[in-house]
Amino acid sequence: MRRVTLFGATGSIGQSAIDLIARDADSYDVVALTGGRNVAQLAADAKRLKADLAVTCYADCYAELKDMLSGTGIDVAAGDHAIAEAATRPVDWALSAIVGSAGLVPGLAALAHGTTLALANKESLVSAGPLLMSQAQAHGATVLPVDSEHSAVFQALVGEDIAAVERVIITASGGAFRDWPIEKLATATLEQASTHPNWNMGQRITIDSASMFNKAMELIETKEFFGVSPDMIEVLIHRESMVHALVGFNDGALMTHVGPSDMRHAIGYALHWPDRRHLPVERVDLAQVGALSFADPDDVRYPALGLARRVMQEGGLSGAVFNAAKERAMDGFIAGDIGFLDMARVVDATLDKMSSAGGIQNQPISIENVLETDRQARIYAAESIKQLG
Ligand code: NAD
Ligand code: MG
Repeated sequence: MRRVTLFGATGSIGQSAIDLIARDADSYDVVALTGGRNVAQLAADAKRLKADLAVTCYADCYAELKDMLSGTGIDVAAGDHAIAEAATRPVDWALSAIVGSAGLVPGLAALAHGTTLALANKESLVSAGPLLMSQAQAHGATVLPVDSEHSAVFQALVGEDIAAVERVIITASGGAFRDWPIEKLATATLEQASTHPNWNMGQRITIDSASMFNKAMELIETKEFFGVSPDMIEVLIHRESMVHALVGFNDGALMTHVGPSDMRHAIGYALHWPDRRHLPVERVDLAQVGALSFADPDDVRYPALGLARRVMQEGGLSGAVFNAAKERAMDGFIAGDIGFLDMARVVDATLDKMSSAGGIQNQPISIENVLETDRQARIYAAESIKQLG
């Protein structure tokens, strides 16, 4: 029996992981499941999978969750602190599928216990990549990618020497507005930005896909995870979302990963790694697909990509600034305080402000500095939102 914990169990990634685990429930000992306001889902899954512990990040959801799980023997807890504490219960494998920078502390806590961490929470790599990877190294823990592009790169690298890699190409569908005239983008509504042409995901990552902030984060994620230099990483627009990434080697070969747009592939690969097991995903019929298309991204349409290049260049705590400003800007867009294109302006202005204030390049990437930078960046981002709104 493999002991597993799922952080963000009630989300889109968490539910896909539960689908895989529930199909083979006898093989898993589910230790903890965490979620947010969706306590009914959390309680139902905790009962179905016979978890030891269910945690909601919201203190005001505690009573409801406790009530739903009364008499089951399942422990109940609430709050950020309780989620980090859940990470200290020993397991063999943990899924980091919380959305946003809230995933960082539990991820670090799991790694401190030597747990293999399947990482969907790209925000923690963007804001504190060196910290996360060194934590893993210090405790002999493994980090496995769950983002589809990074899982694809990881799979293309099996048996290869990273020194022979010339370039890493991650693909992007282009998101909801790929066919919109650029002039119209400023008017994009929340509802329009929350629909994805190919993938069914949580709301925030769907909006990030429309703005290409998702791919921007994935550029940084690639640099941090694989340790390749920024000039080796490319983005390619690929409308069909089937070729998830390509790795180019020094003999000119390109190794690629082709699969359906179903996150259960990347989650399942990380769950069974280093083995491959049968997964219930659709099999691709290339004759049916007929043609695959590729194009360079348009930097004017997608300013987020330029911002990610800047972050990779500046290094230090600029990733923490970028991530926090982006999260705060998205809160502003969701609340209707700023327009769609303003999100990139807020991130740009926040990076400018914190760079000129000094310190983000030279300070060590410690958890204290990351959290303080995150806090300060949100304040500057809120000021910028006020000016734009
Ligand atoms: P989601 O919004 O569907 O689910 C998020 C989960 O995090 C929920 O369980 C929610 O309760 C929990 N959560 C939210 N705020 C929290 C907080 N402050 N503290 C603790 N828990 C909190 O998101 P998702 O689409 O499943 O994405 C999860 C992560 O995986 C994100 O980092 C995303 O970028 C990444 N990812 C998602 C996909 C996808 O297909 N959905 C693909 C690649 C990467
Ligand atoms: Mg991805």
